[in-house]
Amino acid sequence: MRLPYSRDDSAWGSVMIPITVIKNGEGPTALLTGGNHGDEYEGPIALFDLARTLNVEDVSGRVIIVPAMNYPAFVAGTRTSPIDKGNLNRSFPGRPDGTVTQKIADYFQRELLPLANIALDFHSGGKTLDFLPFCAAHVLADRVHEASAFALVEAFSAPYSMKMLEIDAVGMYDTAAEDMGKVFITTELGGGGTATAKTAGIAKRGVRNVLSKAGIFKGPVDVAQTQWLDMPDVDCFCFAEDAGLIEPLVDLGDAVKRGQITARIHPIGRTGQAPIEISAKMDGLLCARHFPGLVKSGDCVAVFAVTV
Ligand SMILES: [Zn+2]
Repeated sequence: MRLPYSRDDSAWGSVMIPITVIKNGEGPTALLTGGNHGDEYEGPIALFDLARTLNVEDVSGRVIIVPAMNYPAFVAGTRTSPIDKGNLNRSFPGRPDGTVTQKIADYFQRELLPLANIALDFHSGGKTLDFLPFCAAHVLADRVHEASAFALVEAFSAPYSMKMLEIDAVGMYDTAAEDMGKVFITTELGGGGTATAKTAGIAKRGVRNVLSKAGIFKGPVDVAQTQWLDMPDVDCFCFAEDAGLIEPLVDLGDAVKRGQITARIHPIGRTGQAPIEISAKMDGLLCARHFPGLVKSGDCVAVFAVTV
């Protein structure tokens, strides 16, 4: 896809978003995306790799690979676009006559999503969050639609699989895909603005496992056991009410009890002040945490989930 930048923005004059399409025989279409947020790396790693290594003879159907959806953000290493500050994952359905980020959303909404039967959109924690590695799908009103998505999540074979509650679904790519009836799955595979050998490996295996489950990929796969988690309500999320220095008292994957203090936020303006305490509002485990050592008011500092 060619980005219609204005001619006076010379730094971006001829940038195009890389895309690979592999089609062979009859079968469903998978739309595979990374870099929806530009500072999340497992998706781009897995998808640049897949675009280079997927043999056409192993495909039955069509695979559309976009390793870096919000390409300007990906090139800048930032969550949102450096051109218009657009958060692509909050820009759907987009606008054909809008800003650059809105145009990218519109291209997915009107051109790519309608072609797809299934969509896998890779995310990670970015610079601000770190996650337990999981593949996820949303709890949906349509139970048949929901079950199709959870079957692909299980096939992905991440160490954890999440039944995800969306507390604010407005403008999301996920919602755009689900509203079209597409089977949509996503991931959170680490974070901190980098990737590890472990999380990159999970992504590379997972995408082939999903394509195999969908009947599109005929090559070898590497499936594994997964631990299902559930995020039943908004009590899963803890936000900072004041800025400060965060002291973790539990780490990712640690079990917690309702009422347990899991982190402290120390005021940094002066010494001698009591920290704000962050408590778990449910029995479960810590599945995401704030990554940088300093937090601002309103930051998500912890996410808890329940083992199923
Ligand atoms: Zn993301």
